[in-house]
Amino acid sequence: GGGTSNNSGSDKQTYYKLSLFGQEKDSVYAMAQTLFSGGSTHGDIALVEAALSPQEFYHLVKIGVPFPHNTFGGYIGYKTDNDPKQRGTSAGPWTSQQMYRKLLVQVEKERIPLLDKHEVISLLISEKGEEKRVVGAIAINKNIASTGLSSLVIFQAENIVMGTGGPGGLYKTSVYPKKHLGSSGIALEVGAKAVNLTEWQYGLASIKFRWNVSGTYQQAIPRYISTKLDGSDEREFLNDFFPSMGKLATAIFLKGYQWPFDVEKIKNYGSSLIDILVYQENILKGRRVFLDFRKNPKANQKLEEFNLNNLDAEAYTYLKKGEALLNTPFARLKQMNPLAVDLYRQNGIDLSKEPLEISVCAQHNNGGLLGNIWWESNIKHLFPIGEVNGTH
Ligand SMILES: Cc1cc2nc3c(=O)[nH]c(=O)nc-3n(C[C@H](O)[C@H](O)[C@H](O)COP(=O)(O)OP(=O)(O)OC[C@H]3O[C@@H](n4cnc5c(N)ncnc54)[C@H](O)[C@@H]3O)c2cc1C
Repeated sequence: GGGTSNNSGSDKQTYYKLSLFGQEKDSVYAMAQTLFSGGSTHGDIALVEAALSPQEFYHLVKIGVPFPHNTFGGYIGYKTDNDPKQRGTSAGPWTSQQMYRKLLVQVEKERIPLLDKHEVISLLISEKGEEKRVVGAIAINKNIASTGLSSLVIFQAENIVMGTGGPGGLYKTSVYPKKHLGSSGIALEVGAKAVNLTEWQYGLASIKFRWNVSGTYQQAIPRYISTKLDGSDEREFLNDFFPSMGKLATAIFLKGYQWPFDVEKIKNYGSSLIDILVYQENILKGRRVFLDFRKNPKANQKLEEFNLNNLDAEAYTYLKKGEALLNTPFARLKQMNPLAVDLYRQNGIDLSKEPLEISVCAQHNNGGLLGNIWWESNIKHLFPIGEVNGTH
């Protein structure tokens, strides 16, 4: 249970599948095309994933994951980043944790043996000419000891399904759960091929308590500040790079649903310019960066006073609809999403009293081990699945 699914969440953690309700038409082929158009997914795999996505979604519904539906039984979706349809759905901030927990009930029901605290440290393979196949694995049984011969367990296996998650331990600034390091290396070591390894998702996250500051955390339009390491010399570092307060406030607002860094969203004062500026301040200049929900962004010689009326229409209308045209970022956040405030309070951070330290963090590796349409690696009988598989 130490992986990402059970220990991570976000403002509105999203599950992606074929659109199943609503007026916008969707099809398996159209969804496959979307997956393929990213440039890193094989067309056949895109087609299989699209074709099976409703089936797998309804499996989760059937075992009790509370995805929202209407009185007609329709699982309404919403658009996520780069999504032309409405394929996103969410069971709330802890969607993957709920999936994990409901699936665990099924594992227990089926009496599938679970060997907790067994860490696989090596895969065993046999070779015939050019072809390699996996035949087993060596693990440390941490119930006995964390090192030494007595703790080693050897498994013989016809097939190994490897669901070890992404390589979260690679980055210093990361929003992966602290304990989740990943194990892709044990497959690479025996000759498993990898693909798309450079495809990562990065975005802004708090670092004391690891959590993405997406959605309402940005739509509340907090003030971005930076300080020296000792907390002195506070600056509103974004101000120098935007032509008006209206543009700056709108870019912050949009970061809510344009959370991951995207090169396409830098130009024309787009929301991803903020990630670059945070990175520059934090990593290149060695300063600490915070979101301050206590005050609105401040005017300077170049930028006018903060005024909600100067937001672009999209942002203004959104806040108006949510009855969140209020005086401070904290008041707006609390109005739109009180749970977002509670979550930090439960983790020892009071957003009404202190600024929230953030950084540009690694969230998800889209690349990983190579797999074919059956998700079998070039090492036969080894099946990397989930985030460790980089072909999807
Ligand atoms: C903050 C955050 C927000 C996210 N939001 C979204 C989102 O909105 N939508 C989305 O689609 N994705 C999102 N993701 C990505 C998604 O959560 C992960 O890709 C997914 O949960 C990975 O699931 P998994 O089953 O592949 O691996 P994990 O859930 O990480 O599980 C890996 C398991 O393997 C075990 N393990 C690892 N190495 C070994 C070993 N050597 N021996 C034995 N066991 C081992 C671990 O203990 C763990 O139990 C988010 C990720 C983060 C961090």
